[in-house]
Amino acid sequence: MNHSGSYSSFEDRHIGIASAADREHMLKELGYASLSALVDTAVPADIRSKSELQLPAARSEEQILADLRALAAKNTVRTQMIGQGFYGTHTPPVIRRNVLESPAWYTAYTPYQPEISQGRLEALLNFQTMVSDLTGLPVANASMLDESSAAAEAVLLMRRANRANADGRTVLDANIFPQTVAVIRGRAEALGFEVEVVDLTNGLPEGDINGIVLQQPGNNGAVTDHSAVISEAKDRGAMVAVIADLLSLTLITPPGEQGADVAIGNTQRFGVPLFFGGPHAAYLAVRAGLERSMPGRLVGVSKDQQGQPAYRLALQTREQHIRREKATSNICTAQALLAITASMYAVYHGPEGLRAIAERTHAKASTLAAALKNADIALASESFFDTIWADVPARAAEVVAAAEAAGVNLRLVDADTVGVSCDETTTDADVAAVASAFGVPSTEVAAAANAIQRLNFNAALVRESDYLTHPIFHTVRSETQMLRYLRRLADRDLALDRTMIPLGSCTMKLNSTAEMESISWPEFAGIHPYVPAEQSIGWRELIASLESWLVEITGYSAISLQPNAGSQGEYAGLLAIRKYHLARGEAQRDICLIPASAHGTNAASAVLAGMRVVVVANTETGHIDMSDLRAKVESHRDALSAIMITYPSTYGVYDADVREVCDLVHEAGGQVYIDGANMNALVGVAKPGEFGGDVSHLNLHKTFAIPHGGGGPGVGPVAVAAHLEPYLPGNPLQNSGEITIADGVPVVATLFGSAGVLPISYAYVAMMGGAGLTRATETALLSANYIASRLGEHFPVLFTGNEGLVAHECILDLRELTAASGVTAEDVAKRLIDFGFHAPTLAFPVAGTLMVEPTESEDLSEIERFIEAMITIRGEIDAVVDGDFSIEDSPLRNAPHPAAVLVSDSWERAYSRERGAFPVDRLRVDKYFPPVSRIDGAFGDRNLVCACPPIEAFDTAASEGAAL
Ligand SMILES: *Cc1c(COP(=O)(O)O)cnc(C)c1O
Repeated sequence: MNHSGSYSSFEDRHIGIASAADREHMLKELGYASLSALVDTAVPADIRSKSELQLPAARSEEQILADLRALAAKNTVRTQMIGQGFYGTHTPPVIRRNVLESPAWYTAYTPYQPEISQGRLEALLNFQTMVSDLTGLPVANASMLDESSAAAEAVLLMRRANRANADGRTVLDANIFPQTVAVIRGRAEALGFEVEVVDLTNGLPEGDINGIVLQQPGNNGAVTDHSAVISEAKDRGAMVAVIADLLSLTLITPPGEQGADVAIGNTQRFGVPLFFGGPHAAYLAVRAGLERSMPGRLVGVSKDQQGQPAYRLALQTREQHIRREKATSNICTAQALLAITASMYAVYHGPEGLRAIAERTHAKASTLAAALKNADIALASESFFDTIWADVPARAAEVVAAAEAAGVNLRLVDADTVGVSCDETTTDADVAAVASAFGVPSTEVAAAANAIQRLNFNAALVRESDYLTHPIFHTVRSETQMLRYLRRLADRDLALDRTMIPLGSCTMKLNSTAEMESISWPEFAGIHPYVPAEQSIGWRELIASLESWLVEITGYSAISLQPNAGSQGEYAGLLAIRKYHLARGEAQRDICLIPASAHGTNAASAVLAGMRVVVVANTETGHIDMSDLRAKVESHRDALSAIMITYPSTYGVYDADVREVCDLVHEAGGQVYIDGANMNALVGVAKPGEFGGDVSHLNLHKTFAIPHGGGGPGVGPVAVAAHLEPYLPGNPLQNSGEITIADGVPVVATLFGSAGVLPISYAYVAMMGGAGLTRATETALLSANYIASRLGEHFPVLFTGNEGLVAHECILDLRELTAASGVTAEDVAKRLIDFGFHAPTLAFPVAGTLMVEPTESEDLSEIERFIEAMITIRGEIDAVVDGDFSIEDSPLRNAPHPAAVLVSDSWERAYSRERGAFPVDRLRVDKYFPPVSRIDGAFGDRNLVCACPPIEAFDTAASEGAAL
């Protein structure tokens, strides 16, 4: 440790409270002589780790970059023509550097506070408009986690929405990617509905059918006219979902025009690197009437206090944080950063650019197809877009090996079949190399290229309709324009690059540049998930090291990095519990106990894993109500599957009873799931695997430094004790189309999920080392307790543990002040925007409160700035109580204050413009003006608009606004 101010270690860069003077000042406020004395008091002695973390010695930033270079060099970058849902793409450098690699975009939080999120909400609305136009369906969300789980969500959507055929089975066409079939089957098995995989080319099978799933182009690349099977499905009362490649839809009739109810797919090839399988944004679009059943986040247009159009998340009453076990899905963190990247790709290329890319891709595939046919090699289908399957009896391995030797990866489908997928990066040389691997000389390829037709798929499927007609897809063409568009949007938002984001339960800590840098290196980003294992040695080494470190940190025996969000880790962990009971012949164990305080994803995930949720009460002091727990364990003893608790609890306290809770459930034959989203209060201090947990998920995008991306990507690894190891999610595929997975091993996403962002957590742990990570936890406790102590006299701290201490976050209770003044927690959250702050977590886990989590990365002066803002706001609440201004006419209710309101010629409020804009003096120097005033969410839900509004909407509103 170095507190002299000359920083030599990463630890001192990561931890905000780096100077001994600041630390002592804070400890003094709390009345503790040392950090360890504080931690010893806050954390119950009976859960403390017995030994220090056994991790490699901390490495410097320079060392980690060199180590990552060495790991990257162990991967082999080849031309990737494997396809199967993942394609080469050129990320425009202006988008790579100014979105994917820009902290203004990647450090933002999910846009729950829409007034400070208008930039990313606009980008996500562009994404929705792009998906809606290309699929021919009116409503699209932003976004889904991956194509396979999106398809599974589509199946569940159909099962919810198609009440007439609720008990019918789900029928999957045989021509769907195998990884998708595996994920859908897993969901069906958990929920107990029947799935049948059949070749639907000649119509539907007999019997009741709830819904069917088709894929365009198919697994074998075939572009098929689905109109007959879709209309048969309609006649039979079945719903229809189509998995569609977005790029192909620039040329091919979209699913919406063929009568599909739902479309899903990946947007990866719109400029998002392969990333060894993820993160990528998947999409889901629905026909009118299904919007309220759709899973995931939906951006909508509403209006602000001035009547200006403004964006915000719509229809949140469908979502897990409100509806819990009745939610449409458990998705919380999605793939915002990747959705934004894909949307910008469409904005930059426009419809004509995308069509040109699709035509080029198709031309390459057409040339190759013609050359192979000339050489008497049969194709699985002569109607294709970018992918062909070649029939080479007993020669497939040989062809794939020859291509690999020439630097190109192809797909080994089976002993007789090779798959080849072209994309926008495919060159003539690549096509020649592939042809040559099949034994076709390059002269024949050139001849074939000259002779090909323009479109080589079913003529009935040529797209006639327009898409991307909105001006935003026509006005940004030069790089200067794109650079400025990105900057303009980013400037509307508040992310970590401008302010502390004190969101409780979200752990918005530093995402350091050294951690981030390597993710876009081609040796990491350019690897297809299904390359032969020997081409991904560096990836596998990195993943194995990270796994072993996380196992050490959590005290479990194994971990899977496959789940690509916390919610997916929960689902995977609960599935493991379910399978464990099943294997022991205890299929009746299906009750999941969940405390009232739990995060909404917990209950929603339990339902997806086929469990019944029983709520356990919390006491007034925020602890689990032990007598209620005892009663519920007793009454459900034989059916008890699990308890799902968060530790420290979502109330921000270390429950001293946690061991007893675990023992009670174990004694009744149940398993203990410990939600690890709050691991930032445990790392190095206590291990869930040691104090009673059987399984936990971690949120690498919280505790382990992966940025939140404005709402994703995430990584939600699931860690288990030894007895659950056989049920950890497995890898569905290794370098070929075959499912090699052992029976009973669940699959929740692709291979290693969001592998592409794992170097971030790897670098974080490696640079912090065991002592650094422990000090981070201790500092997070110090800062949270300092804030609780300083603000406690102004806003009561709702729950505390031993000696009045909190864990890494604290809940400020506004309810009494609300009763006395009318000022709500929401008013306070919005007023903080005028001070340049992102609000703390609002109304979770208790309505009428704010939950504050500073993390270890904030320095004392930023913490003081926050405290000053909160105390100033408290003064304004008192002014309302004293009658200086009414609540309606207060700076609180009218917050936030955009520049247009503040400088308007008319100002008739009971407080001055200066008070509105500069409640504290320092704002005169650095001021963030929100682009809109407070947004009316309910209006937007009543008048749902989920695609880009016409430009005139803004013009009219602006002139009306000026007249006010
Ligand atoms: C964030 C969080 C989750 C959900 O994680 P996602 O990655 O958003 O799906 C679950 N539980 C708790 C307590 C959380 O804070």
